[in-house]
This record gives sequence, structure tokens and C-alpha cells, in this order.
Amino acid sequence: MNQIKIVALVAFILTAPTFASNSLIPVSKETKEMAVSLRDKAIKDDSAYEILKSLTTEVGARHPGTPGEKAGIEWGINKLKALGFDKVYTEDVKMNGWVRGIETAEVLIPSYQKLTITALGRSKSTPEGGLEAQIVHFESYADLEKAADGSLKGKIAFISNRMERFKNGAGYGRANIARSKGHELAAKKGAEALLIRSIGTDDHRNPHTGATNVAMGYTMVPAVALSNPDADQLVRLIGYGHSPKIRLNIQTKDLGAIVTKNVIGEMTGRELPNEVVVIGGHLDSWDLGTGAVDDGAGVAIAMATATLIKNNTEMRPRRTIRVILWGAEELGLIGARAYAKAREADGTIANHVIGSESDFGAGPVYGLQSSDNISENAMHVVDTMAGLMGELGVTRRSGNTSGGPDMMPLAALGVPALNLMQDGTDYFDLHHTPDDTFDKVNPEHMRQNVAAWTVFAFIAAEWPGSFK
Ligand SMILES: [Zn+2]
Repeated sequence: MNQIKIVALVAFILTAPTFASNSLIPVSKETKEMAVSLRDKAIKDDSAYEILKSLTTEVGARHPGTPGEKAGIEWGINKLKALGFDKVYTEDVKMNGWVRGIETAEVLIPSYQKLTITALGRSKSTPEGGLEAQIVHFESYADLEKAADGSLKGKIAFISNRMERFKNGAGYGRANIARSKGHELAAKKGAEALLIRSIGTDDHRNPHTGATNVAMGYTMVPAVALSNPDADQLVRLIGYGHSPKIRLNIQTKDLGAIVTKNVIGEMTGRELPNEVVVIGGHLDSWDLGTGAVDDGAGVAIAMATATLIKNNTEMRPRRTIRVILWGAEELGLIGARAYAKAREADGTIANHVIGSESDFGAGPVYGLQSSDNISENAMHVVDTMAGLMGELGVTRRSGNTSGGPDMMPLAALGVPALNLMQDGTDYFDLHHTPDDTFDKVNPEHMRQNVAAWTVFAFIAAEWPGSFK
């Protein structure tokens, strides 16, 4: 840089009435005071808990292709309108549907015992009436890999690895390969079916369902999860030297082409209406429970956050707050991928200033993490948010984030993201089970979540600088 340019730049900085670069854009005193005032209102406000109660009670499970999903979409539209969102609309998303039917399993040899199981997402059916076969035990996916191809003809492959419990859910990814890809490996080894220990941390007799890596159609062999106590039972039987024979009857249905929806509500920005702060959760749920912690809680937190900001500010924040209730997350981020693809195609992806999804249950927020692509000059804003969340027990955390599962397609296109990290110590006790119900949710935790989300969403929408 030559001297003339330096002089010009200094002159510009000294005289610039507004902001020459992000580094010069503080979070104003008024913005901070408003964020604190909103936070302190949110911590006494039960609207997220009430929204969640309505969704889980008046609708229940919301699995794509079922009447429950349709009712959930209607509920989302009506609730956003009733809460006073400026714009409410939906976007159709094409997908391939799958539903479960009969699912039973019994040990036949050495003694008759019922097993508690559930089909994994897009599991193929067994022959009508079921199949009977001996199980062959593998302690992990890696152990099944070592078996010779074709060596399990006429047998059922049983993988028994157990998910470990961590506050941040770190055990999930490690254990999950058995669920997502076990069916392919079992087929390669010649097995008739795949049986896995549920990917979950509880000791209740509830199996955990969940997606496989299949996007359309069916898994290569019937793929089933056992509850943790049932998996323990089979491991003990084998420990006694038995070769258990079981009967497995799984009847599922490929629904073919169906349409789901992303449901969207907006609070229009007063000054930069085209610039969007994204918050949200996914509206679909697995079919076994009522989708309370996964992800009714996230839906309710996002809806309550935007509503609280609207009801307690004289004017709308500078930017638009867009609440997205994504469709068909559980079967592979289908709504989220379609949303991002459409914004990439029409160029509005550039208007997405920052975003985050709440999809890790209903535990309290304890950390604030930011994506690596947030500009150095905007870091002080994230630090300010974390500081104002400090009273809620939140601290600033290192590490990169995509901002939640449904934010991943947006993050991949360069949208900055934050992660309001929730305590997920108990999340995988309930996750994808019949026990994912409203009674498990603590109203105090819901209030704490909304308080933290309000600080984030309000400052992101009000601070005039760029996060990129
Ligand atoms: Zn979820």
C-alpha cells in the first residue's frame, strides 16, 4: 500500500460516518441492552414449552408419508400464522416414502423368548410370515468386515457394539456405522438379515430406529435394531455356548414418490428485509414416539424465539428472521437439501447471513460454537453473544460447526453458522424410541434455550455488519 492510499484510508476512517469494515462495527449499547431485556423475558416465558405440548399432543408422530406428517404440516402453518409471523409459506419437496408394518422377533432355540425390536429406516421386508435362522455374533462392524464373503449363508448377522454416553453425543457417530451400512456388509457376507444393538445409551426395553444409508427403495437385507436389554440377553446366551435361532418377521412398505414440505415463517426485517437469519428445527419425526426431543423441541424453540423478539421490540430487527421447519430430516436431510439447492439455483443463498438449527433435544445450552468461515472481524459479535448468554451458563467454545444437521447443506454453500450446544447426556436414552414423548421435557430447560436463542437471533438480525 503506498503512502497516498494510506493517507486516504486514514482520512476515510476518521471521517466515515458509518462503518468502513466489520472491525469498526461494534455491537451497539442499545442492541446489547435489548438482547439482555429479551433474554430476561424469555427466561420467564413458557411459550416454547406450550408450543411443544400442542405439537406432540394434538399431532403426535410426524413420519413422512403418514397422516401424522400431514397434520404436522397443517399444524406448523396454522401455528406460525397464529403467532403473528409476517409471512408463512411452504415449499414442496419430492422424496421417496417408506413406512413400517409388522415387526416381531422371537428366540426359538434354546428357549422361546420374545425380543423387542424395530426396523431401521427403509428396511426390506422378510418373506411373509418371517424367516428363521441362527444368529452369528460380531462385537462390531469392523469384526463383521473380517468375516469371509458369503460365509453367513442362511444366518443372521448380529452386531452388538454399544454406544457410549457423552455430554456432546460423541458416541453416536462412532457407533452409527452398524446402523447405516451394516445391511450392505451383512448382505456381502451372505446373511439373510442384519440385527444390531440399538444406537442408544439407555437400558430400557425400547429399540431405537434410525436411518440407513439408503436414499430410495430398500436396504439389501432386512435391517433391525434390538433394545439394549435384548442385545445383552443374546450376548449372554452366546456366552453360555448356545447358538440362538430366532424368528424375524418384518413387513415394511416402499411408498414410492411422495411430497413433503418445508414450512417457513418470517419476521420481516425493517431495514434489510432480503437479508436472512435462519433459525429452525425439523418438523418430521420418527414414528415410534411423538417426536418431542427429536425434534419438536427445536421447532418450538425456534418459533418461540422469533415470536418473543417480535412481541417485545417496538420495530422489527434490521434483518429478516426466517424460521424454517424442515421436512424429512430423519430420512436423510431431504427437506434441507432441497431448500439449499433451490437457494443456490436462484442466487438467494448469498442473502443468508448466518444460521443455526436446534436439533439435539431439550437439554440446556452450555456452549456457543462458530463456523470457521465467520470473518475474524465478526468474531467479537459471537463473543458478545456468548457473553450475554453467560448468565444462562453458556460459555464460548472452540471447534468448527455446521450449525446442526439441516444447516449442513447451507454451511456447505458457505453460509456462516453457530451451534448453541445443548447438554445431550440423556438425549440418546430417548432418541428414535417410543419414549421420545413430551413428559421427558423440562420446562425450565426450554425457557433457558429460548433465552439463549433470543440473544443469538436478535443480535444477528440487528448488528449491521457481515459475518462473512
Ligand atoms: Zn433430529
